[in-house]
Amino acid sequence: MPFSELTTELTERTAAGLLRRRRLLESPQGTHVRVDGREVLSFCSNDYLGLANHPALISAAKEAADSAGVGGGASHLITGHHHLHQKLEEALAKSVGLPCALLFSTGYMANIGVVTALVGRSDTVFADKLNHASLNDAAVLSRAELKRYPHNDMAALEQLLKTAKSGRKLVLADAVFSMDGDVAPVKELLALCETYDAWLMLDDAHGFGVLGNGRGILAEHGVCSPRIIYMATLGKAAGVAGAFVAGETMLIENLIQNARSYVYTTAAPPMLAAALLASLNVIEEEDWRREQLQRLIRTLRDGLQSCRWQLVASQTPIQPVIIGDNKEAIDVSEHLLERGLLVPAIRPPTVPKGTARLRISLSASHTTDEVQQLVDAIRKLADR
Ligand SMILES: *Cc1c(COP(=O)(O)O)cnc(C)c1O
Repeated sequence: MPFSELTTELTERTAAGLLRRRRLLESPQGTHVRVDGREVLSFCSNDYLGLANHPALISAAKEAADSAGVGGGASHLITGHHHLHQKLEEALAKSVGLPCALLFSTGYMANIGVVTALVGRSDTVFADKLNHASLNDAAVLSRAELKRYPHNDMAALEQLLKTAKSGRKLVLADAVFSMDGDVAPVKELLALCETYDAWLMLDDAHGFGVLGNGRGILAEHGVCSPRIIYMATLGKAAGVAGAFVAGETMLIENLIQNARSYVYTTAAPPMLAAALLASLNVIEEEDWRREQLQRLIRTLRDGLQSCRWQLVASQTPIQPVIIGDNKEAIDVSEHLLERGLLVPAIRPPTVPKGTARLRISLSASHTTDEVQQLVDAIRKLADR
């Protein structure tokens, strides 16, 4: 039987209650969605600014579909590099305050492409233990030596940098950690990279659009350096799809030559670039969306202050509530769903053992009343 081993694996997963399944979404992404046949109030999308279904982005995409078609048609290096892509790259570089930017089809591909283009067998990658899976995969694929340091532990990172072999050094860190919502100590990371002559790659998937007036982690911390390789995704706060890498012109030129997930893939449809240009306008002009997020974060944190399940110290729209036990986390998530509130339970191995959690994501489209409703429901379950 060619698949018997795979069948066994699935059976075991099911028995352990770890089988992953996909919910069926039957509405646009947003806070009020239809999922598996029912209307729910959702706290689990990365659409932090509420742009995934924004009319300005939709009409920009429609107009571009009329003028530029729906298909990318070829890779960027053949004939796929549309003037809308070019315009978007220029706007993105300007937005994050770096000389040059390069679009990728997804954040996963951007991370794979950058790391494998820049380091190889004789080099070393230093990575935070809570980094996103795509950065870990990228490091492994690059064949560089991989040294992981405890989460945000700068002393441990320094020790590793000090004793590194010769060759290139690349430090990889999420700017906002996707399961905890906390932020990397960017200034300290940069200072270490300067001392030990390393590059610093920051994955700002959850910061771009949200932090630094929408310009991301670098603006938030007021840092800039030619050592920085900045990556952000465009399917989260920006509301569409894709990712970009920004940095020195020489870096970007090099990636165009060597990043295999850039070279050997079809360009994303230009209509997505048009939608993203419209998204950038909203990100730049509508501060109220970030202000609303701050209000919601305050409502949630104030509301859950004395709850027996504690929030992680996060000031971003990612607000995990640590439950601890796997089964209890699932149980709480299921009870919330009975009340029409969709909040995912995240369990190991995605998060460390004993830290199963509800991962609440807030969006500027939520109202304070809706967040209060969630607070009341969680408190009631905690007091059972
Ligand atoms: C979502 C995410 C990615 C992957 O981005 P996609 O565009 O979804 O492929 C990379 N890094 C981090 C930290 C993420 O949260």
